[in-house]
Amino acid sequence: MHVTIHRGTHEIGGNCIEIATDHSRIILDIGMPLFNKNREPHDSGTLRRQSTEQLRQSGVLPHVPGLFDDSNPRPDAILLSHAHEDHTGLLGHSHPDIPIYASVGTSKMMLAGAKFAGQPALPRERQRELTSGQPAQIGEFTITPYSVDHSIYGGQAFLIEAAGKTVLYSGDLRLHGRKPGMHRALVDAMKPRNIDILLMEGTHIGHPNHRGPNEYDLEDQIAESIQSAPGLVLASFSPQHVDRLVGFLRATKKTGRMFVADAYTAFVMHLIASETRIPRPESTEWVKVFFPKYFEESYRRKQLENHFVLMSPARIGIKEIRSNPSRYVMLFRPSMLDSDFGGRLPDGSRCLYSRWSGYLDRPDWQVVKDALAKVNGDLIEAHTSGHIFYDDIIDLVGRVNAKMVVPIHTFEPEKFKQFSSKVKLLADRELWTF
Ligand SMILES: [Zn+2]
Repeated sequence: MHVTIHRGTHEIGGNCIEIATDHSRIILDIGMPLFNKNREPHDSGTLRRQSTEQLRQSGVLPHVPGLFDDSNPRPDAILLSHAHEDHTGLLGHSHPDIPIYASVGTSKMMLAGAKFAGQPALPRERQRELTSGQPAQIGEFTITPYSVDHSIYGGQAFLIEAAGKTVLYSGDLRLHGRKPGMHRALVDAMKPRNIDILLMEGTHIGHPNHRGPNEYDLEDQIAESIQSAPGLVLASFSPQHVDRLVGFLRATKKTGRMFVADAYTAFVMHLIASETRIPRPESTEWVKVFFPKYFEESYRRKQLENHFVLMSPARIGIKEIRSNPSRYVMLFRPSMLDSDFGGRLPDGSRCLYSRWSGYLDRPDWQVVKDALAKVNGDLIEAHTSGHIFYDDIIDLVGRVNAKMVVPIHTFEPEKFKQFSSKVKLLADRELWTF
């Protein structure tokens, strides 16, 4: 078996891994990088707009024969571990004849992301379904996906078997989400196997002393912050992060307020209502749906007429929210400040910020902070990481007990050597045969 990590051995984001036997090749993730060579964050909007040729010339497109060009043989498949853009972002540049394997959850998050957030689409004719625990045959490979907990719905790790060898690719995952059963099931499934290689995400490997709350403790914190808020609560989180959405929904219900989803969040809730216990926004008494101006202006163009009609009975407007702000917890993004609130938030508004803290330094969040200060409001961070904490990495790596551990999705792969003697460090594009 041959493994080439085209990108991700020494950085967070932009994963692209090729695994090959003599007759088959598969690609694990096809991500847009998050950082440039100097570790400065890329502007995702700029990269999204660039042509295949521009991305090839700047080196953003990894050189993988047949993946982004017409040459033969092409890879047999692209497998997506989850729908984050640093794992899917280059999909639109890949050859249209290559099938794409992903969970139903991932395909739903990609649909929502494509309709509402400018993220890459998953073309239906290329889509193949991966169901947790059920092996799929791709050329010489047997792939068994396992659901994992991450900051987006539908994430999977992949067990890959061929040529008498076994590889486990973690994707992005964590052990402190709402479903601890998931990682126990993964560990149990690995026990009887002799895993040769664990490709393990190490986002937090450089932060041994950092440990945030789990999603349940975070839900309690959110409920307390809602309880003590004097006015409107603005909730800032990614609707695709369904664990977090559930936390906000439960905290809202506990405090007797109403949850106001925006059109995007309502779309996600509707998509997954049948397979989760998420309330249906169109028919749940304590859930309302807000149509931001941009949605009203774009829903026809984006072919979201059905969504507009379906959610209309639950619709709430800004006037109604302003007339009794302390009744609501409302999904919020900075663009709403001007376009929907006319630049002025209700008095005493509290923003519960539930994303990576780095975004708070951006200009749009500075403006929100100023707007909150003007009305005697405040901003409280209520967040925990979507990635596995240091201690949990050690725990999981120990339990999987692979013969070799290859770090990925980290700036500090060498730190894996602090706790394991079986670490193999690869360089980007290095061909490793084992
Ligand atoms: Zn991710």
